Amino acid sequence: MNIHEYQAKQLLKEYGAPVADGRAVTRAEEAKTAAGALDGPLWVVKAQIHAGGRGKGKFKEASAGEKGGVRLAKSVEEAAEETARMLGRTLVTHQTGPAGKQVNRIYIEDGADIETELYLALLVDRDTSRISFIASTEGGMDIEEVAAHTPEKIVTFSVDPASGVSAFHGRKVAFALGLKGQAFKECVALVSKLYKLFVEKDVSLLEINPLIVMTDGHIRCLDCKMNFDSNSLYRQPEVFSLRDETEEDPKELEASKYDLNYIALDGEIGCMVNGAGLAMATMDIIKLYGSEPANFLDVGGGATKEKVTEAFKIITSDPQVKGILVNIFGGIMRCDVIAEGVIAAVKEVGLKVPLVVRLEGTNVDLGKKIIGESGLNVIAADNLSDAAEKIVKAVKG
Ligand code: ADP
Ligand code: MG
Repeated sequence: MNIHEYQAKQLLKEYGAPVADGRAVTRAEEAKTAAGALDGPLWVVKAQIHAGGRGKGKFKEASAGEKGGVRLAKSVEEAAEETARMLGRTLVTHQTGPAGKQVNRIYIEDGADIETELYLALLVDRDTSRISFIASTEGGMDIEEVAAHTPEKIVTFSVDPASGVSAFHGRKVAFALGLKGQAFKECVALVSKLYKLFVEKDVSLLEINPLIVMTDGHIRCLDCKMNFDSNSLYRQPEVFSLRDETEEDPKELEASKYDLNYIALDGEIGCMVNGAGLAMATMDIIKLYGSEPANFLDVGGGATKEKVTEAFKIITSDPQVKGILVNIFGGIMRCDVIAEGVIAAVKEVGLKVPLVVRLEGTNVDLGKKIIGESGLNVIAADNLSDAAEKIVKAVKG
């Protein structure tokens, strides 16, 4: 689960990390009061969407030379004007995709006098099964770019969970960032605060880009992205309350209501599969035959007819889907249940794209019979590669 920058900064503040004073608003009328509560003389007006790259982003229907989603203001009035200009519009950044995201919230914060912009992140490193730090002097840019062109400017190390974080790790980060004096000391303190927050709140990624040194020698977290492990949310009610459903993919949101493991992707072939491993293999083989999956979907082991119907409806509601591949290996899941679910869904929402069904395992004959007698225009397949080949052919012609 993701949260907004202003929410992440609230959490940083709770753990004693240095952030600017700021106010979030959802209506233009609130902007003047919000900006007026801050010190000035510089205000920064920031679009809150679950995507980075806002500063360099572009609003749809932007006027010539119009700025992106992070704007400086020199007065309360100007901050209010910029807020009104951004609210309700769609911001496109390299992370939102071409459709962009509607800006429903603005964060107004105190402007900082920046001396240097640095990069600091913590993440769960699967290779070492530990929490890793990533530090770079190249702040304010995409870390992927830095990694691709100047990897020597990135320092990473992991923390042994048995001994936890210590001042040693803080010094390692501060050296990597080239800090001195007051900023060095503050960075050492920041590292253990971030680690504590990361562990206690079940964070999976915490990225501060940029972490800045100000002209007065202090450091500050100027931007913050936080992702949380969704499996931990049952024990993180405070974090869970920060969820903003309007930022989530509506299809994924719908799927989560039915307890379906669904992730929307960019391709054209909708997949309905049981078991995460089989779903991964199905996506791979679709690519092998020259197309791209539109989603990952694991209906689970003991799915009911209703669940299968909902899954199918979610897949067909995606305008990107040009063909559907149902690939079921009946173990606990029975092929006849899948067949009935698919038929019920098609009766309800119709079928405008080719559908290939491959069934195997428990009650396979019954499943095939149900589909055969339904009168549905289904292309039957006997095995996984046959199924993938048939759906790609049906879509690509
Ligand atoms: P994004 O990463 O989505 O573009 P950031 O919060 O990192 O958004 O802002 C982009 C840039 O805007 C920063 O790298 C920094 O140069 C500037 N900036 C952001 N917040 C402030 C602030 N409070 N004071 C001064 N400059 C800021
Ligand atoms: Mg940033």
